Amino acid sequence: MDLHISEFQEMMRRLYFHRDSNRGIEGTYDWLVEEVGELGDALTKGDKKELEGEFADVFAWLASLANIAGIDLEIVAMNKYGNKCPKCMQSPCQCTF
Ligand SMILES: [Zn+2]
Repeated sequence: MDLHISEFQEMMRRLYFHRDSNRGIEGTYDWLVEEVGELGDALTKGDKKELEGEFADVFAWLASLANIAGIDLEIVAMNKYGNKCPKCMQSPCQCTF
């Protein structure tokens, strides 16, 4: 399946915007943080199926949060990271840490 990030975000809007907008930005942000924590747990367990589910959840909640914050994830991600590192402007990144 070939799907743009904006299409995924729009799908999440159709599925959940009525709930997301009632919950609000702070409550939805709290859910995202909770899901990131679950992703962290799954990374240490080594269960691939669980890990896949947690990645999906984090992405879904990020899209929900973007919907109620009025952010287009595809546009902002590509504006910042489109084919180059935003700090050194190189691809691959040549930043020294
Ligand atoms: Zn860089």
